[in-house]
Amino acid sequence: MTKDWNLSAAPESTSHVQLQQEYGLFIGGKWIKPSDGKYFETSNPATEKKLASIALAGRKDVDSAFKSADKAFESWSKLSGAERGKYIFRIARIIQEKSREFAVIESMDGGKPIRESRDIDIPLAAAHFFYYAGWADKLEYVFPGRKVRPMGVAAQIIPWNFPLLMAAWKIAPALACGNTVVLKPAETTSLTALKLAEVIDEAGLPPGVVNIITGDGSTGALMTAHPTPNKLAFTGSTEVGKQIYKAAIQGGKKVTLELGGKAANIIFDDAPIDAAVEGIINGIYFNQGHVCCAGSRLFVQETVYAEVLAKLKRRMDSLIVGDPMDKNTDIGAINSKEQLKTIEHYLKLGSEEGADIYQPAGELPKKGYWCKPTLFTNVAQSNRIAQEEIFGPVLAIQTFRTIDEVIEKANNTPYGLSAGVWTDKGSKVFQLTKALKAGVVWANTYNKFDPTSPFGGFKESGFGREGGMHGLEAYLAFD
Ligand code: NAP
Ligand code: MG
Repeated sequence: MTKDWNLSAAPESTSHVQLQQEYGLFIGGKWIKPSDGKYFETSNPATEKKLASIALAGRKDVDSAFKSADKAFESWSKLSGAERGKYIFRIARIIQEKSREFAVIESMDGGKPIRESRDIDIPLAAAHFFYYAGWADKLEYVFPGRKVRPMGVAAQIIPWNFPLLMAAWKIAPALACGNTVVLKPAETTSLTALKLAEVIDEAGLPPGVVNIITGDGSTGALMTAHPTPNKLAFTGSTEVGKQIYKAAIQGGKKVTLELGGKAANIIFDDAPIDAAVEGIINGIYFNQGHVCCAGSRLFVQETVYAEVLAKLKRRMDSLIVGDPMDKNTDIGAINSKEQLKTIEHYLKLGSEEGADIYQPAGELPKKGYWCKPTLFTNVAQSNRIAQEEIFGPVLAIQTFRTIDEVIEKANNTPYGLSAGVWTDKGSKVFQLTKALKAGVVWANTYNKFDPTSPFGGFKESGFGREGGMHGLEAYLAFD
């Protein structure tokens, strides 16, 4: 859907990428074949071509991963913070050195534009390791007057939308605090986690400190039911999060859950409108809308509704949808066939519910999974497209007149992960940030992430914080 820009193709090269045809499980510092001999395929959602075969970890493999993490914990937890920090710094530096390869693999396996994996996912993943490496020998200063110790073995399960970044969010603070881990990436995007296992090997971490096992939901369920881990860390859907919470309660384990969202992005009539329009675009179309904190519910003050809508449509018309490997691409491929089905179901539902749909003109590529940037107007608060997480490039607009009205509407959701506020008035920003029930509120910007800043939700968006000093607390026991 290359509009009237007539840009020449600017594809990122893939010639430097080293991928194996078949990946085993990274357990105890070794690459192991799955005990049941089962593998699954991962493919490129933009081409539907197979990229590699990946081991499916079964009961025995999950067991041996936790055994090796448990064994490694004995010595890793006794290492000085400064020593642990050195290893984590090394991981950060190797990710930086291999950042181009990581970025290309992330885009090939998951469909996100190379511009985003190159400029956001991979640098942020390295930054998380750098940041937590720095805390490893300073933990006693984070919680003055309290004695902290590592928790033990952590089971960590991550989703497919930011594969390497989510692995970094989980592994970096766990290691800094002296824990060992078993991590499972999502089925459709295991490759960068497996590459990270190679980095961890190269960094010389003692065997078993980080174990990376691949598989599907059944592997994840085996991990959460396993008796060894005393910490479960999960990022994913609210539905699976509830099952994990139950397993944690039954097993007496600590748990942090980073779940779904349906964020309100609120535009007041005194906002810098052009900047706000960019913020709306970035808020919902970044990473094809596969973002837990996406600004998927837009609230525009009635007085500027017509202006915002016109500018938003014009900007949507200029978005380039297509080859994720092209450096000009704004919106890449939908992560999987299943996710595309879910999104298409909501597109149909939105129209059936009486909302008006807008999509830019243009052709989508024939092969692969694609969805045009989509906008629904004439949306009612009760519509399912305004209530449920779609996890795609689909925005629902509503209007408001007063601050109280928009606060009530914005909070009228089972979720509470994030929100955005656009206004010229600092006092309004503070009023809103206090009143909005959301873990993160961005003011005059959106989707900004930093390792020093805690991230996490309220209500059905989960609990516990990742990032910043708060992220350390989730991996420490207090005497
Ligand atoms: P998902 O289906 O919940 O899967 C997340 C992870 O859990 C995957 O590794 C998945 O494996 C695994 N899993 C599936 N069933 C399981 C079970 N019964 N027990 C244990 N693990 C199981 O979520 P998703 O579709 O991958 O990701 C999208 C969701 O994640 C969205 O709702 C989004 O909002 C949320 N998310 C939240 C944050 C945050 O920080 N709050 C960040 C990113 C995404 P398979 O992939 O192999 O099925
Ligand atoms: Mg894939």
